[in-house]
This record gives sequence, C-alpha cells and structure tokens, in this order.
Amino acid sequence: MLLPWKLFQASFSALSSTTSPSTQASIGSTLDRAHALLSRTPIFDGHWDLPIFARWTVGDNLAKFAYNDTLKGQIDLPRIRKGGVGSFWSIAFVECPSSTNVSLGPGPGWDWDDQPAQVVRDTLEQIDLTRQLVEYFPQDVALARTPNDFWENWKQGKVSHWIGLEGAHSLGNSLATLRTYAALGVTYLTLTHNCHNVFADAAIPAPGSPDEVHGGLSHFGFRLVKELNRLGVAVDLSHTSPKTQLETLHVSSAPVIFSHSGAKAVYDHPRNIDDEVLRELRKSERDFVVGVPFLSDFVRGAGNSTLEDVVEHAEYLAAKLGGKRHVALGSDYDGALEFSKGLEDAASYPRLVAKLMERGWTEKDLEGLASENWLRVIGKIQRHGRVTRAGGARPDMRPWHGRHDCE
Ligand SMILES: [Zn+2]
Repeated sequence: MLLPWKLFQASFSALSSTTSPSTQASIGSTLDRAHALLSRTPIFDGHWDLPIFARWTVGDNLAKFAYNDTLKGQIDLPRIRKGGVGSFWSIAFVECPSSTNVSLGPGPGWDWDDQPAQVVRDTLEQIDLTRQLVEYFPQDVALARTPNDFWENWKQGKVSHWIGLEGAHSLGNSLATLRTYAALGVTYLTLTHNCHNVFADAAIPAPGSPDEVHGGLSHFGFRLVKELNRLGVAVDLSHTSPKTQLETLHVSSAPVIFSHSGAKAVYDHPRNIDDEVLRELRKSERDFVVGVPFLSDFVRGAGNSTLEDVVEHAEYLAAKLGGKRHVALGSDYDGALEFSKGLEDAASYPRLVAKLMERGWTEKDLEGLASENWLRVIGKIQRHGRVTRAGGARPDMRPWHGRHDCE
C-alpha cells in the first residue's frame, strides 16, 4: 500500500486500460511453458491490497463488488485465473495516524492511545471483508491459513485468500488485539506502515515525524515479536527501518519475511532492503523469504519500471541472499496506480516466469518463486509457534505501559 486513499480515489478517473502487449510476442513457446508450470504450481503473491480497494470503490459492500467481472484495479477473478494465480495474501490495512493527530513520544495521543477503537474497528472490517468474499464467491474463493489449505483449495479449483495485516498501529497498542486478529485468520503482521508506532520505527516516517523514535524496536516491540513467534504468525519486515530489521533478526526465534520489498542497491528507495540487512539475513541460521514488488516506485521509479527491472531485483536478491529459494513475489497490486511495464496486473505473472525461464531459472527455481518459497517459510513459522506453545510458552498478558485503565 502506497497512496493516501483520497489521491488513489481521485486518480481512478484517470486510469486507462491496464493491459499491455509488452514482450509477449517475442517469447511465444516459453510463455506456453510458463502457463504449464503455473497450472501445476500456481502463483502465491505475498501482498495484494484487495480489501482497501474494495473499501474505496464500493464502501466494503461486496454485493456491489464485481470480483468475477472487471474491476478498475489490478485484480479480479478473470485476471487471477489468466495469470495462473492460486493464492495471495489479502491485506488488512488502515491508514497511519496523521502527524496532526499523533503526538511524538509516549504520552497522551501517542499512536492511537486516545482513540484505539476506530482503528481496531476498521481493521476488523478489513479482515471481515476477506472472510466474507467466500460467501459471495464460493465457487472461486477459499480462505487459507496453512500450506495444507493452499494445496487443498487448489485441488478444488479455488483461489486461496490468506489474511495479512499491514502496520502494527492496527493493534491499538494491545497484544490481546493481536491474538484476536490471529484467531480470525491473520497469518502475518507487517511491524510498521509509513509511520513509527509504539513497537518499531518505520523506513518512511509520517510527515513531520523524526527519522526514528526508538532506534529500531521498542521494548514493547521486542515483546510483540516474541508473541508473534509464539502464535506462529509471521513477522513481516517490509516498511520497517533498517535498524528495526537488524534488531528483529536477532530477537525473532522464527524465520522472518519481507512481504513486498526490493533491493536498495538495484533502486535506491527507502522502502528497499539495504545490503547490510541482506548480509545479516544470509548469515541467519533461520530461513527467510523476500517478496519482490512490481510497484513502479520501488522497482525503478514512476515512469521507468519494467518487467526486466523486476527480474534484476529478483536476481540481485537471490545472489545476495544465497539462493533463489529465498525469493518470492509481493507485487503490491491494488496498493498503487502504477506498476512495472509488462507486469501491469494479475494476469501478468506468466510473462515474468517466461522471462526467467529464458534467463536460465530452472523449473524448481520457478516453482519456488511462484509459491513454494512462501509455503516453506510460513510452514516453518507455524511449526515454530506450535512447538513454542507446546513447550509451555503462555500468552503475554501484560498491558502496554502507557495504559492507565488496566491498573
Ligand atoms: Zn505496503
């Protein structure tokens, strides 16, 4: 998710066709092989902003949501089918508090302390939206929480909708809220969006905020990571500051993920991952995976990004991280207006797979990129949670230190 929603809404009227012939003609039979591969091992995308798109376009009213027809964003069921997509994380997202309604530093007003109810309500509505898609489109949509669900749904011809949560500001500073979200099906939490919160510093602060407030994770953020590990919910480090990333790598006892982040050395954007962090990830004894975004701003900048640039991010990450098994996809579809040329919408994945085939990626590499790398890592995170709970780890029930109604 990139745009403030008003800008996003206003820009819809300017949208033209999202499809592009791109390089399709030149890759002919490779494209057939790509389709064949995806028919066996479908795409699992790590980050789609479908719920906020539905909120902005139909006010969450699924009775008006033409999911099985043509939608104005990058995603709808016909394009999902055309693109060989079998699964994606459907993101619950609520805007960060603006710099005008959040005071910086612990105290009244800090990160929703005074008004957590609205952000928690809106987050629940975003989670509910994905859950209710099953009721409206039962032939095509199924929820998923585990790798086993993914394959079961695929066998039945259904598209797995996993629920991810973008931005720990959505917790209302409460680990109890986190546990409730997890019970409703949330399988990853991005520690920040484009604002610092009580848990961690972001790569991009809210307007008017200092560059950092904690210097990485706060003590409460440390506890949040431990609780996520115990629950078997993935810690997502996209959007966080490099210091938050480095600290979390040391604090987390489970593998971590980056749901939608490129490489800073390929394109210097604050949301992309530093070489230093890539080196530390590679040294980690635990597994990890990075989803490469297609969103132009992260790939090569607006107006300049192409499928070939996305390939460059993927190959650079694979080289730095010690293997293609650590690279997956996290397009950020429906989270912005402009995507890399050749990868404009959910129907585009076969073109990317075909291009990588031409560049020598093996079928095994591509099955990993398509979905198996996400599935392997999320499976390990969930197993780690089960083992931790079986070992007697209890829920962290201590309230945030800034609470005064629980004393
Ligand atoms: Zn995002």
